[in-house]
Amino acid sequence: MSDRKVMLITGGSRGIGAAVAHGAIQRQYDLCINYHSDTAAATEIVAEAKKEGVHAIAVQADVGKPNSVQELFSRIDSEFGRLDVLVNNAGVVAPAARLDQIDDSRLRTILDINISGAVHCAAESVRRMSTAHGGHGGSIVNISSIAALLGGPNEYIDYAMSKGAMDSMTIGLAKEVATEGIRVNAIRPGLIYTDIHASGGEPGRVDRLASVVPMQRGGEASEVASAVLWLASDEASYVTGSFLNVSGGR
Ligand code: NAP
Repeated sequence: MSDRKVMLITGGSRGIGAAVAHGAIQRQYDLCINYHSDTAAATEIVAEAKKEGVHAIAVQADVGKPNSVQELFSRIDSEFGRLDVLVNNAGVVAPAARLDQIDDSRLRTILDINISGAVHCAAESVRRMSTAHGGHGGSIVNISSIAALLGGPNEYIDYAMSKGAMDSMTIGLAKEVATEGIRVNAIRPGLIYTDIHASGGEPGRVDRLASVVPMQRGGEASEVASAVLWLASDEASYVTGSFLNVSGGR
């Protein structure tokens, strides 16, 4: 087993998660890249890591399914024997809809992945990191959204409220484990150029809305990753229960 820090990035195959992975490779974290279905994208990141001398694995798991989360963490136990950083990043949106158009199946999918998935991953991480459980501490960075503050009207109130729940989890868990060596913080990205907008049916969404951003542009995944990697690092050693909006002022 290596002495290097181990980072789990849920949804690490594409978008913001992949950008965090690129930065983590440069910082020489060992990596577990979780993904849902894009095996090729996850495998490419593992190959990049290996080139840089980083021990990395790609693990398929649906964070919306508790059994799948357990299998993901079992893999981390057997492969690395430690966990230092959780980047709780996997998340989904759905096509734009008003609240009165949202059906139960869509609502449950959003809540299962964005809330339950994040909670189960945080819980499994605490079980391994907490000094109260014999661990040596760690850092959890939750990827929320500026939508938690804006509410997502006419697009996805269900998504926005799932990120509001993540914010509450960040506040509570940060306090709960503050004396157990674990820091818990969150990033609220704004409009970031990734495939998530196409998955919600509008690939050009960032450009359409760029004019409402005070900085008048969308953000890059790498700009979110920089903030994640800082919060994860010892440079943020006195920062917990905090939120960093990476949203161009929106
Ligand atoms: P993305 O480009 O669509 O990538 C999503 C990632 O999550 C992929 O790696 C995907 O895996 C994985 N994933 C999806 N469902 C999953 C599941 N059930 N279990 C495990 N992994 C799953 O999204 P993104 O824009 O990078 O978003 C990342 C996070 O940032 C999300 O939580 C999102 O809500 C948040 N965020 C994004 C923006 C933005 O403008 N982009 C703004 C605010 C917040 P596969 O590759 O296998 O499909």
